[in-house]
Amino acid sequence: MTAQSRRPPRIDTPEFWPATFDRFDELLIGAYHCTVEHIGTSAGGRAIHSLTWRGRDDMPTLGLVGGMHGHEPPGVAACFNVVSILRSGRDLKGESWPEITPELNYVIVPLLNPDARARMPNSFVGLAKQDILHYDSGMTLEGERREWSDEDCDPSQMMILGGLFNDAGNHVNRETDPENLRSPEIAAIMSFVADHKPDVVLEFHAHAALPMMICPTNLVPEEVQTRQEQICAGVLERAQAEDITFNEKVPKSEKLSTSLYYHFGGSVPILYESPQGVLDSPCPWTHEQIIDTCLFVVSCLAAELSG
Ligand SMILES: [Zn+2]
Repeated sequence: MTAQSRRPPRIDTPEFWPATFDRFDELLIGAYHCTVEHIGTSAGGRAIHSLTWRGRDDMPTLGLVGGMHGHEPPGVAACFNVVSILRSGRDLKGESWPEITPELNYVIVPLLNPDARARMPNSFVGLAKQDILHYDSGMTLEGERREWSDEDCDPSQMMILGGLFNDAGNHVNRETDPENLRSPEIAAIMSFVADHKPDVVLEFHAHAALPMMICPTNLVPEEVQTRQEQICAGVLERAQAEDITFNEKVPKSEKLSTSLYYHFGGSVPILYESPQGVLDSPCPWTHEQIIDTCLFVVSCLAAELSG
């Protein structure tokens, strides 16, 4: 069996956790309240979609990007829950999130790297670190975990191409030179952000650790970094008040394509790492808890933008 035809493991997940292509198709077709567009095509030939919600003309715009990494399904699921909130006021499990107000404008790319999603399991909830080691950086032909690196990866040398990469092996989230965007995924998202100029863009990631906010800072001027710090401090303050444990540190990173949302769209780039629900991690959370912290962070940013 070739790497291309190998199917990833599927585990039973709740309805409010869309992380497979059959569900994406269903939810995109049902999103008649948004403008759905095909903004690009991945290295592996898969469509990259955007959903645009028009709120009030005088209100700011919040950008949401999910699925940069294939082994991180929570952000994709969270984006589709926001789409549901914009339609009915309720997420896919029926809970309301009043701060995610339809008065704001939203530009959403729920699945930026569909190639990677296609080769990864639909959830890591209830698995152990040992079970998921081969999915981020990938598994070599010798059956070893590929050593972590910021470089691209040669797919022909991999038994499992990791969730970090598109089908061409581009390490999409490490493209930091705006003059040299190598992958069609990053080119598509940057041109989308340049068209819509969202005020803030939240990019979803996930890891086997506490919820964490990150400020991507390469090519981001100091006054915008101050704004990033204020926004993240606001999230941590509210998390503490609502008894949601977050990593107390807000690291800065200079090696993420995420920061280019500022370069291309003037947007304040913010990154959220949600827990994956891995058993031997500080957050062996359920699907519901994971979606809820993602929507909590969206609520904080929406409230901040609504003023
Ligand atoms: Zn990630």
